[in-house]
Amino acid sequence: MERCDFVLGQAVGEFEKRFADYCGVSHAVGVASGTDALHLAFRALDVGPGDEVILPAMTFVATALGVVLAGATPVLADVRDADGLLDLDKAAAAVTDKTRAVCPVHLFGQCMESGPLLDFARERGLLLVEDAAQAHGAYDGKVRAGSFGHAACFSFYPGKNLGAYGDGGAVCTPDPETDRRLRMLRNYGSPKKYLHEEFGTNSRLDTLQAAVLNVKLARLDAWNRRRAELAALYDQALANIPGVTLTAFRPDSVYHLYVIRVPNRDRVLAALNEAGIGAGIHYPYTVHEAGMFSHLFAGQEFPVAEDWARRSISLPLYAEMPEQAVERAARVLKKTL
Ligand SMILES: *Cc1c(COP(=O)(O)O)cnc(C)c1O
Repeated sequence: MERCDFVLGQAVGEFEKRFADYCGVSHAVGVASGTDALHLAFRALDVGPGDEVILPAMTFVATALGVVLAGATPVLADVRDADGLLDLDKAAAAVTDKTRAVCPVHLFGQCMESGPLLDFARERGLLLVEDAAQAHGAYDGKVRAGSFGHAACFSFYPGKNLGAYGDGGAVCTPDPETDRRLRMLRNYGSPKKYLHEEFGTNSRLDTLQAAVLNVKLARLDAWNRRRAELAALYDQALANIPGVTLTAFRPDSVYHLYVIRVPNRDRVLAALNEAGIGAGIHYPYTVHEAGMFSHLFAGQEFPVAEDWARRSISLPLYAEMPEQAVERAARVLKKTL
């Protein structure tokens, strides 16, 4: 504030470098939100009108919104029953001669396997854009979320594993040209003051938010480890309860959310909330059920994604959560069921 360094300031450049290093990629570009990260990543990769992008039917709507904002057409594929991530067999069946990109989502903090995704994209000549908005720091067993796509999109919404004190986002890319395009697109299409080369927008990561993120990034791994420890306590406490389906999390997930599936979900949720337990639903509707997309997906069915939407419940999980709160949530859940 003393430097009046509010827009594209020093802290933004520092954070971009640190976050790229953290993810294991050569470039990161700060933008205003995760939604804009997706929108601008597709624009920077020249995915637009007439192009189709395949994404999972179970994700936050912003994944599909990013595609639509770039002028392209979202095409949905169903997800895996075990963990809610994109089912690549279903994605393969959704490929047409208009498909330009596939956009897997590292849902709930779990990084989807990079090897099969890279093969999937390479064999079909597609771009791979990761939606890593829930997976800062997650590994797929080998590499980090955000490190293997042509572009990878992050959100720093306060509730994410790495959250700012307001909105923010970033795109990671290994490609210097994509990095250059993103820097123009986020700043009125401008490579240099008052030169405007392409139809850009105003979508910059705020300097104050970057300053917050620089402090918090240093603590992210410790927070993620704590989330995994608490999730392991949930796993133990909830094992072998009839009716409860645990999600198949790998240990190198960063547990953005601790999601299970239960019968009579809405009644169970109400009972937990009445007992003062801040459980929620991620997400109560699939992408094809969102009103704003009804014209795009009318008549389509994604039974596995729909099952997640009907039966899933997210139990409270955050790094500072006391262990007794995990035990209490598990106890109340058991009693409720
Ligand atoms: C949060 C989120 C986004 C959108 O990020 P915003 O910063 O809220 O715009 C996109 N995709 C997924 C999977 C998310 O969880």
